[in-house]
Amino acid sequence: MSSGKPTILVTGGAGYIGSHTVLALLQAGYDVVVLDNLVYGHRDLLEKVLQIELVVGDTADRALLDQIFQTHDIAAVMHFSAYAYVGESVTDPAKYYRNNVLGTLTLLEAMLAASVKKFVFSSTCATYGVPEVVPIPENHPQNPINPYGATKLMVERILSDFDVAYSLKSVRFRYFNAAGADPNGLLGEDHNPETHLIPLVLLTALGKREYISIFGTDYPTPDGTCIRDYIHVSDLADAHVLGLEYLLKGSDSEVFNLGNGSGFSVREVIAAAEQVTGVTIPVQESDRRPGDPPSLIGSSEKARKILGWQPQYPSIKDIVFHAWQWHQQRHKDEC
Ligand code: UDP
Repeated sequence: MSSGKPTILVTGGAGYIGSHTVLALLQAGYDVVVLDNLVYGHRDLLEKVLQIELVVGDTADRALLDQIFQTHDIAAVMHFSAYAYVGESVTDPAKYYRNNVLGTLTLLEAMLAASVKKFVFSSTCATYGVPEVVPIPENHPQNPINPYGATKLMVERILSDFDVAYSLKSVRFRYFNAAGADPNGLLGEDHNPETHLIPLVLLTALGKREYISIFGTDYPTPDGTCIRDYIHVSDLADAHVLGLEYLLKGSDSEVFNLGNGSGFSVREVIAAAEQVTGVTIPVQESDRRPGDPPSLIGSSEKARKILGWQPQYPSIKDIVFHAWQWHQQRHKDEC
């Protein structure tokens, strides 16, 4: 069954971005082992992505990690498992520091013990905080405004230090707003609770929610609503395969933004969803959500130049359409 390509350990491979990356790795011919504690991940998603070995467990479980590294010839680790609810990170930071920082440190130590020294890390534009310039370049100051962003920045710092001390090479990807779903309908976004704009808008179109709240209409943007850089999850997944291959060929550690380089307001996203679904989506204008910068747009020139990354689905309509296919399918049996 082996393809001749190396085996990759993917933590959080049953989650949203992780599962799409597992699919991209399989399509590129890699063998994959997934470690996921299934707190937020979905076993059924992995079972659809056939032949994947799922180890149910935690990145903080050092004995389990040692066992995985002893029983598989792992060439690199892609690390997606993290808690990622900004609001919850403010009310329960201990949960975030424990899982996102301590869990990652345990994983990195287990890697070093097994002499595995290539690491692809899911970081975030939330490490930048409120941008001083837009589009945000990678060398923008990192001043996160919530514990979630702080945990990711701490891991970035650990990775820099581990490179100097132990030659552990990493690619750190700072994502903007991951959105959309596998164009073939195999995988998609399924958070519980769901807090993200595009799935919530589509669940409203499906009649699962009464209305979509617009968090803030008095921002200094053309239509008063927040602007975000939505990037298709399959394009993110492709970038991860390129980042992995960059490390496998012996390149040095690097950091890359992953975004489209263009932004859409909340109202523009709702309008795109109305076009795609043909449904008039009820909205309710609400107060601003704490911690939301007015505009977050990333410059991904570096990933394009160094990794040769070329997003296939930059259009917001494609992103919303693929998400719509997925949500219709995922919710078709519930009535
Ligand atoms: N948003 C909104 N209503 C919602 C959920 C989100 O108006 O029910 C806004 C949110 O304030 C932000 C944008 O939509 O400006 C994207 O939010 P999301 O939670 O999807 O991603 P984030 O930018 O927080 O990572």
